Amino acid sequence: MTTDTNRSKTEPKRLPRVDLPADARLDTLAVREGLPASPWGENSEALFLTSSFVHPDAATAAARFANEEEAFVYSRFTNPTTMMMERRLAALEGTEACIATSSGMSAIMLLVMGLLKAGDHVVCSRSVFGSTIKLLQGEFGKFGVLTTFVSQTDVAEWRAAIRPETKLLFAETPSNPLTEVCDIRALADIAHAAGALLAVDNCFCSPALQQPAKLGADLIIHSGTKYLDGQGRVVAGAICGPEAIVEGKFVPVMRSAGMCLSPFNAWVVLKGLETLAIRMRAQSESALALARWLEQQPQVAAVWYPGLPSHPQHELAMAQQGGCGGAVVSFVVRGEGASAGRTHAFAVIDATRICSITANLGDTKTTITHPASTSHGRLSEEQRLAAGITQGMIRVAVGLEHIDDLKADLARGLALI
Ligand SMILES: *Cc1c(COP(=O)(O)O)cnc(C)c1O
Repeated sequence: MTTDTNRSKTEPKRLPRVDLPADARLDTLAVREGLPASPWGENSEALFLTSSFVHPDAATAAARFANEEEAFVYSRFTNPTTMMMERRLAALEGTEACIATSSGMSAIMLLVMGLLKAGDHVVCSRSVFGSTIKLLQGEFGKFGVLTTFVSQTDVAEWRAAIRPETKLLFAETPSNPLTEVCDIRALADIAHAAGALLAVDNCFCSPALQQPAKLGADLIIHSGTKYLDGQGRVVAGAICGPEAIVEGKFVPVMRSAGMCLSPFNAWVVLKGLETLAIRMRAQSESALALARWLEQQPQVAAVWYPGLPSHPQHELAMAQQGGCGGAVVSFVVRGEGASAGRTHAFAVIDATRICSITANLGDTKTTITHPASTSHGRLSEEQRLAAGITQGMIRVAVGLEHIDDLKADLARGLALI
């Protein structure tokens, strides 16, 4: 190693980048962005299963601990495999930086710990992931961070909820299971006019369909457990955003709080990102075909899918999501009253032979679930109805099986109604 004695103390020596053309497109970055290969010249990215890294001498170790030189030190906050995943995901989201976390929920925990303090206020959609509501309202409420929950789609409600202490707006689009779409650009404008930041949970679309940073969002949250891995193998998370915020606010919390992603899980997500775009396009195409077919079935009372012209925010979704509806479709089976609705929904779910009965999503294997008794089972029936979730509702997260097999899988149960 050569010692560059002219190097400024304030400009830390940086790790090298992959030598790619400056105008490389997203599909290329998804396969190539990361770190240069090790001296052994591996073509597939290496898995660095090591907790710590060795320094050539004490002075170099000191420089690295003082952040004068970017280097791998300890896998709680620096690991080459994890960094490859972070750089690749940042490239796909079009942000300067990314920090990987142990789960999607720990990404949201890191977001709040890094940005907020007691007395600060958050405005959040009422339709976000259930654990996000519990974390903000329950856990962070205890520490004096207060959250106001507002309509997913009514921009005026967001504006009206802003207070002088509002530091963060948090949105997730489309929502689960009703696929309601919020207007990212409008929310970014409200946040910025109030001197606050907008964070968007981009789990349902992934950067293959929707890049919130291009629409003005400051921070992008991911559950890597879903489409980024894409094959239902690991639990993972990440925050993407400007380098100043990631390095200045999140890395120090990661260093002391340690909600880090394991290098093995980072490697699985890293390899998942290589096929993200083709999976998202194929699964979204199948979901559209399934949604159109469901709309035609006499036993189906309603279908929610952003790719259908009947969806209330269809035009906004198409503009925001690259013309794709995503891979999640929800529908309601006919049945008078809650008990018939539930019986019919269970009959359709139980008649499937291909779909996996699980509340997870983002897998190449199609999953089917009854939101009222699983993901939203902890709510009261009144809260559920206020959220638009009835006993007859079924959510399908479409995978990569043949579309005709998926239709036949659902037709079998619908025929029993
Ligand atoms: C699953 C999910 C999360 C939480 O992610 P985990 O990896 O399970 O912790 C957050 N947001 C959305 C939209 C999700 O679907």
